[in-house]
Amino acid sequence: MKNYHLSPSQFRKEGKRIIDWIADYYENIDQYPVLSQVEPGEIIASLPEKPPAKGESFDDIIKDLNEKVIPGITHWQSPNFFAYFPSNTSFPSILGDLVSSGLGVQGMIWATSPAATELETRVLDWLADMMDMPEKFKSTSTGGGVIQDTASTAALTALIAARERATGFESNKKGVRQRLTAYVSGQTHSSLEKAVKMAGIGVENLRIIGITEHFAMKPDLLQQQIQKDKKEGFLPFFVCATIGTTSSNAIDPIRQIGEICRDEKCWLHVDAAMAGTAMVCPEFRHFKDGVELADSYSFNPHKWMFTNFDCDVFWVGNRQELINTFSILPEYLRNKASESGEVFDYRDWHVQLGRRFRSLKLWFVIRHYGVEGLQFHIRKHVELAQKFASWVRQSDQFELVVEPPLNLVCFRHINGDDFNMKLMNEVNKTGRAYFTHTKLNDQMVLRMCIAQTHTEEEHVLRAWKLICETAEKISTEIR
Ligand SMILES: *Cc1c(COP(=O)(O)O)cnc(C)c1O
Repeated sequence: MKNYHLSPSQFRKEGKRIIDWIADYYENIDQYPVLSQVEPGEIIASLPEKPPAKGESFDDIIKDLNEKVIPGITHWQSPNFFAYFPSNTSFPSILGDLVSSGLGVQGMIWATSPAATELETRVLDWLADMMDMPEKFKSTSTGGGVIQDTASTAALTALIAARERATGFESNKKGVRQRLTAYVSGQTHSSLEKAVKMAGIGVENLRIIGITEHFAMKPDLLQQQIQKDKKEGFLPFFVCATIGTTSSNAIDPIRQIGEICRDEKCWLHVDAAMAGTAMVCPEFRHFKDGVELADSYSFNPHKWMFTNFDCDVFWVGNRQELINTFSILPEYLRNKASESGEVFDYRDWHVQLGRRFRSLKLWFVIRHYGVEGLQFHIRKHVELAQKFASWVRQSDQFELVVEPPLNLVCFRHINGDDFNMKLMNEVNKTGRAYFTHTKLNDQMVLRMCIAQTHTEEEHVLRAWKLICETAEKISTEIR
């Protein structure tokens, strides 16, 4: 019978080739320019305008992968990648994800693949224990965890559940949403602004709370703003606090903010997108002091926990609030298990219906590394960042902008904004390291984030030397 599929035996052959291709890529990754050097439109121009009418061979596909796709890749997995925040992965994660692709299940409800739900529940309970999270975040208590695609979606999900809780599920009534006010700091991730827009709250009802010289939210200003809003007839309902802001890794005081939220009946969401991973190490857990006051918490294993994108862990203290907000039950999804109330149907815990079996990659990672292995690598990243910071401190050309709490170093050359911008662009152009910038106190600041799976001291040292040499070169050109 005619068909166009790969047979299992052909798949075996091509699959092994692709695994080899990935292994080769990692063996040679150091040699690629970290930041892709292509111009806009270059890749699309190299691709045929029309799709193939007849199927092509894997030889041809892999040839084009090497020649046309790779030049347009910025190598996020390079040990010389220090830009933005990481999106690190690891071989166990890649294999776990491959298994998920192979099984190809839809885990939208328990009944559509019980293991997809129950493995996820178990793994997120493990993580809660591994990070010493409050008992209420566990499925065995009142809450539980669910994997979301990103921290942005987790924040939106929290915000919508908070909106419904605050309005007694009547946020659709006329004039109700216009009264709701949400609170963030000027350093909160932009996804929160997007979330208030999407949730129908409106950016005019988003209050931006002032920060300390360390870029952390000031709880007394939060308290004052809430009081002011209440006096004016608003209904304060949601606060987002951050552990490890994107710009500078600033840590908001969770306990003080949490106490205000408790007293004012605001939902507290804690966004620990990158820094959250550090909680596997007991010595960093003081950063989450007060987290038992949070209603929800999220962090991204897809940033710093060796788990490939996408994988955000979202915990809530009261799952019923989430389920009451998001559950719908069309006839075609009715089933005995759901109606018995004995199972979780994760489609009721977030925006999407269909869901991949994402806990598999996390399960592979946690089982491969063990708690000890994860702690080892996280500690190493933090140590390398602290070492980098010590080199900056010793230099008379560079200065630290803030003391780095973990693995992100914010620093600048003493010669001002234009010089720093030029320095960054020149270093990135070499392809031998890639780092990015931010603005703090209206100043251009360089960011060095150390979190790549295969980054060792030699890579960090080489990047520092490259930065110093490039600065030297620019200085002499100017003179
Ligand atoms: C990266 C980041 C986000 C956004 O993460 P996504 O998973 O890409 O949505 C949100 N908050 C903080 C603090 C971040 O660093």
